[in-house]
Amino acid sequence: MHEAGLAAYACDPAQSRGRRYWEEPAPTRTPFQRDRDRIVHSTAFRRLVYKTQVFLNHEGDLFRTRLTHSIEVAQLGRSIARSLSLNEDLVEAICLAHDLGHTPFGHAGQDALHDCMAEFGGFEHNLQSLRVVDWLERRYPQFDGLNLCFETREGILKHCSQANARALEAQEPGGVGARFLLRKQPSLEAQLCNLADEIAYNAHDIDDGVRSGLISMEQLQSIPLFESHRLQALAEYPALARLESQRRLLYEAIRRMLSAQVYDVIEATRHALQTQGPKHVDEVRAMPLLVRFSEEMHGQSLALKRFLFANLYRHPQVVETTNSARQVVRELFASYMQQPQAMKPIFAQRWDEAVAPSDRARVVADFIAGMTDRYAVKEHERLTGQRLLG
Ligand code: MG
Repeated sequence: MHEAGLAAYACDPAQSRGRRYWEEPAPTRTPFQRDRDRIVHSTAFRRLVYKTQVFLNHEGDLFRTRLTHSIEVAQLGRSIARSLSLNEDLVEAICLAHDLGHTPFGHAGQDALHDCMAEFGGFEHNLQSLRVVDWLERRYPQFDGLNLCFETREGILKHCSQANARALEAQEPGGVGARFLLRKQPSLEAQLCNLADEIAYNAHDIDDGVRSGLISMEQLQSIPLFESHRLQALAEYPALARLESQRRLLYEAIRRMLSAQVYDVIEATRHALQTQGPKHVDEVRAMPLLVRFSEEMHGQSLALKRFLFANLYRHPQVVETTNSARQVVRELFASYMQQPQAMKPIFAQRWDEAVAPSDRARVVADFIAGMTDRYAVKEHERLTGQRLLG
């Protein structure tokens, strides 16, 4: 029987493909609730508070961090899940875990680590998130990792290169790597988390961008998705035009923009579900992506993304700090490759046990990827004598 209130196409915890290691079911929680709880209690989750989203952790106390970002993604995901009768617990678990594998310093850190790992198989943050929940967390007596359900792991592994998918498939035949080889989709809950992620960062990066002074309301007026909602807010509340109400106007425009995207996803997805008519999650996996924006909203969201890319992520001030962040990661990597004993004992021990150069490099990558921004800065100073970034 399907869990009460769930649609036929939703992931039913009673039909989960299960965990890698068998466990007695919890008496009062579904397997997906249990996954969410394990994620919230993990060390990697707590580290997200000191990891960069766009602005480095030391640049201000009010900017998003990976933790607040993940919570915002989970909130949006759950709202949409509830109105589509999808599994909210599963959506929440995936959303809260989706960035666990992120390096310090956001995308700059990830790019730098990928470059360092070029001859050792590269570095992908989605795959790293899976490594965290499958293996790197060490808190249970029976197994490494958090031993999450297949459906949660499937959602966490949003992207994966063909080479990495083949490697996963070799370890776990028919597991979470298989869909990338078969070019299939994940569950609707997983599809939803991807879109919730996009909606969340598009909105909060506008807020943080304006707060930082790197982008202005005037610049944003060239973005139809933002401007149409700013004008609506002004028409309804003309007093927002006053100079002292600018922040309130920004919030109101962002709030309306967020709601419009959420309602659009719900509408467009409902339509796709009606047209395709999946009766089970396995049918969903063989269909095109069903959780989607309408054509029009897709275009508007893309325009906003491009704007943020050009004007915020590539802003000279952001680029300057990201260059330093890259240097920190590069030099940390080089230092540990030369003196593996400088790593925390558990990683130094893993290095000793590893034989192949690529396995040893992976130990270093795991150690660096787990660092918070400030720990990386401190370690870099300890090893090089040079203080970068704050
Ligand atoms: Mg994210």
